[in-house]
Amino acid sequence: MDSKHNEPKTLQEAIAFYSNPNNALAYMVLLRWPDGIVTCPACGRDDVVFLHNQRKWQCKSVHPKRQFSAKVGTIFEDSPIAIQKWIVAVWMLSNCRNGVSSYEIARAIGVTQKSAWFMLHRIRLGLQTSGGKLGQGPDSEVEIDETYIGGKARNMHRAKRERLSRDGGMQGGHGKAVVMGMVERGGKVKAAVLGHKREKKLMHQIIEGNVMPGTWIHTDEFSNYDGLSDKYTHFVVNHLESYVEGNVHTNTIENFWSLLKRGLGGTYVAVEPFHLFRYVDEQAFRFNNRKGVDGTKLTDADRFNIAMSQVIGKRLTYTELTGKSGEEQTPF
Ligand SMILES: [Zn+2]
Repeated sequence: MDSKHNEPKTLQEAIAFYSNPNNALAYMVLLRWPDGIVTCPACGRDDVVFLHNQRKWQCKSVHPKRQFSAKVGTIFEDSPIAIQKWIVAVWMLSNCRNGVSSYEIARAIGVTQKSAWFMLHRIRLGLQTSGGKLGQGPDSEVEIDETYIGGKARNMHRAKRERLSRDGGMQGGHGKAVVMGMVERGGKVKAAVLGHKREKKLMHQIIEGNVMPGTWIHTDEFSNYDGLSDKYTHFVVNHLESYVEGNVHTNTIENFWSLLKRGLGGTYVAVEPFHLFRYVDEQAFRFNNRKGVDGTKLTDADRFNIAMSQVIGKRLTYTELTGKSGEEQTPF
């Protein structure tokens, strides 16, 4: 892959192109070592030897880990799954508007559903939204809202549905989970899982941590939003009125909720509460990368390149993923 016009444009082209291990490796090298000089991650030597049969490099200095692959230092590092399969999975997750299930990934790349599930969660970690606060511009307007997310009982096997209902619901026994979102009109969304309650103090902390003071904000009349007018110009939407009063509405964030719910309801059969924030991050990634900084529409290849550049920088071990170590939600 030496020029942009060779880049695949569709999922089919991506599968065909990246299933060739040479193309997948060349792409990874380009991302990891943009100047084309592969260096030893342990000592920094840049005259490493490529071992063709193993698709690995070997450092000329004798030290631990002197052999390394293009996966070293990325979220793919300790995975036995080939890089070309990872790449196709990233393409699918970053571009399927309503999300993609582990079953679809498993079929597309030829791994077990369990492996695909694990891959998807690792990739979602890479897609976590970061970056500065919303409301940087002088005319910025930010909509803030919360929504409830619950399991989809109708998609479940009857026995499981009955067991969950007996245990007191599908969100850890306390009903649905609350997701809070903030979106800048014409800009990016940030969202977080609050848990089972809408605590005023936490909601204010999240807003202050993510929205620049002085910004015009729009919320509904929920009393937890009272007290924000010290720091913001606060407009309250009257949902009892059937018409939108001028510019005062929360339609943008409601649009994000419907995308999130369509993805969760249609594609993901049952979302464990613990993992909900990862699905929220995934949907936020696609929402935030629908347009480039200049306002032009991003292509699937653009979104894939952004996803890959984010994904290879982060690592997640299986213990973190399954909650056996104390990993907390850290989207902010
Ligand atoms: Zn070395």
